[in-house]
Amino acid sequence: MAVFDGPGGKELLDALLLTAYLVAAGYLALFVVLYHLHVKRREAEAGLRLVDAAFRSSVQGMAILDAAGSVVRSNGAFARMAREHVQGFFVEALPIARAKGYWEGELAAPRTSGEEDVYLATVSAVRVQGEADSYALSLADITERRRAEQRIRHIAHHDLLTDLPNRACLAEHAAEAMARARPDGRRAGLMLVDLDRFKHINDSLGHAVGDELLRRAARRLIATLRPADVVGRQGGDEFVVLLPELADAQAAERVAAKVVAAMRQPFVVGARELLASCSIGIALFPDNGEDFDTLMRNADTAMYVAKEAGRDCYRFHAPEMARRANERLDLEADLRHALQSSGLMVAMQPQVALATGVLCGMEALVRWAHPQRGAISPVQFIPVAEDSGLILALGEWVLREACRQRAEWLQAGLRDVPVAVNVSAVQFRDPGFPGAVKRALADFALPPALLELEVTESVIMAGFEQVKLTLEELGRLGLHLSIDDFGTGYSSLSYLKRLPVEKLKIDRSFVIELPADGESKAIVEAVVGLARGLGMRVIAEGVETAGQADCLRQCGCDEAQGFLYSKPLSAPDFAARYVKAWSSSKAAAA
Ligand code: C2E
Ligand code: CA
Ligand code: CA
Repeated sequence: MAVFDGPGGKELLDALLLTAYLVAAGYLALFVVLYHLHVKRREAEAGLRLVDAAFRSSVQGMAILDAAGSVVRSNGAFARMAREHVQGFFVEALPIARAKGYWEGELAAPRTSGEEDVYLATVSAVRVQGEADSYALSLADITERRRAEQRIRHIAHHDLLTDLPNRACLAEHAAEAMARARPDGRRAGLMLVDLDRFKHINDSLGHAVGDELLRRAARRLIATLRPADVVGRQGGDEFVVLLPELADAQAAERVAAKVVAAMRQPFVVGARELLASCSIGIALFPDNGEDFDTLMRNADTAMYVAKEAGRDCYRFHAPEMARRANERLDLEADLRHALQSSGLMVAMQPQVALATGVLCGMEALVRWAHPQRGAISPVQFIPVAEDSGLILALGEWVLREACRQRAEWLQAGLRDVPVAVNVSAVQFRDPGFPGAVKRALADFALPPALLELEVTESVIMAGFEQVKLTLEELGRLGLHLSIDDFGTGYSSLSYLKRLPVEKLKIDRSFVIELPADGESKAIVEAVVGLARGLGMRVIAEGVETAGQADCLRQCGCDEAQGFLYSKPLSAPDFAARYVKAWSSSKAAAA
């Protein structure tokens, strides 16, 4: 071509070629770009389809919410899970998700069956232009996982056999109870309850019976205690009872007594009646320890003390305040035993006419020679007997023994002189008391005139009308009544006038001060004057010196009792000194 042969033709050709090349390269680039875009879109479409399929088929509930919290899109799982009540949580969750970008929490959705489903919910804020304009929500059903966790927690905290809290769980309860009690200075108690005959039953009747017995014992413990008390099992035949709130040691004692009594009742397992009984050790917070392990250890030693004391009883951990309670309990157990095994005795102390020195009566005083501790004073054990109710049996025993003895001496010739028996307030309030007196008189054929009952002034003053009726009933039997410890109980004169009482016993505390103390002498004179006015006789107790006796005689006192004349004597000694002398003097006079 001529054009390209002329001057500059080569440059033109080069430019054209370059242009063609550039155009071709541009097309190619465009093609590549277009192709690339095409692939990307295919990929994007496939990706979207995948995301969409995943969204729809997910077992997690998923939803997209708009800025106002309305569901824009959701999947089937969400529809199944999200009933109305689930929607309610958006109110709480969305503001937090908006502020922090994210919210996570658990939702409980109650079922009509009463159980509930638990969901783990997450809400993420979706931001396209800074502000959160929608939210992605997912719900995962964790009901089964929660239930399994609960089950594991329950197993970890409970005894498999009885389903009672185990030691670990008790420790937690105890820590809580102590934390609550500490600021107000209140007490809490820990009782270790051990079945006494479990090993024997388990060995002889087999494990199935043993297991059933433990389950029954658990149920009985729960039924005996209050709902606030925690009953647990520590393994074997040992139960632990936590008493989270105690006013004092007596409160723990009352609970323990109730449990011992309840466990004493037979258990019916299959066709068998099983007698188990239990021994209880008690430790008190904070007295016996300020943490669970210390309290458990101390309750344990106390439990062994209870076992040694003969089982079927309870004992406190020994030190400090609890020691006295234990001593009293030991004393009570020993006293009960003494009563059943003729370990008690009745001593007789003579009463004489002050004018002549002649025997005019005697007081029966109970005596207890403890096998280990020697003689124990009634001042110590009568109050224990009164608290435990043992006084009814003890009092009746003294009454019968006094009647028996007096009837025997009547046979030996001792006439006219009555025997005085002390009657405790508890006995006096017992409706069976007059009947017991009648029986004693009848059984030993003792004339009622040879029996006198001593009632303390404090008994007279408490519940006057009832006391009056009882005294009248006793008076009608023909026996004598006297008021013991007179001068200490502020009896009202008008009361005294209306009672069938024949004798006032001036308390030892006034006699002791005679003859030096003018005030005591004035009191003795006043009592004598009062007795005269009421037609009663007066006896002074605790007369130790001739000076006291002289003073009493001057005051006009009728009778006296005390070491000056004789200490309380055993029956043979009393018989040797008084019965024989009396009989022979009467024989001589006849
Ligand atoms: P009480 O009824 O005032 O008995 C008199 C107490 O004084 C007796 O003490 C007696 O041994 C003591 N006593 C007698 N003469 C003298 C004396 O000259 N000087 C001194 N310092 N004491 C003298 P006991 O036997 O230790 O009895 C103490 C209390 O125990 C009795 O006081 C009575 O309240 C109670 N008690 C004794 N036996 C019985 C009983 O069988 N039943 C009941 N319910 N209580 C009894
Ligand atoms: Ca007395
Ligand atoms: Ca007295």
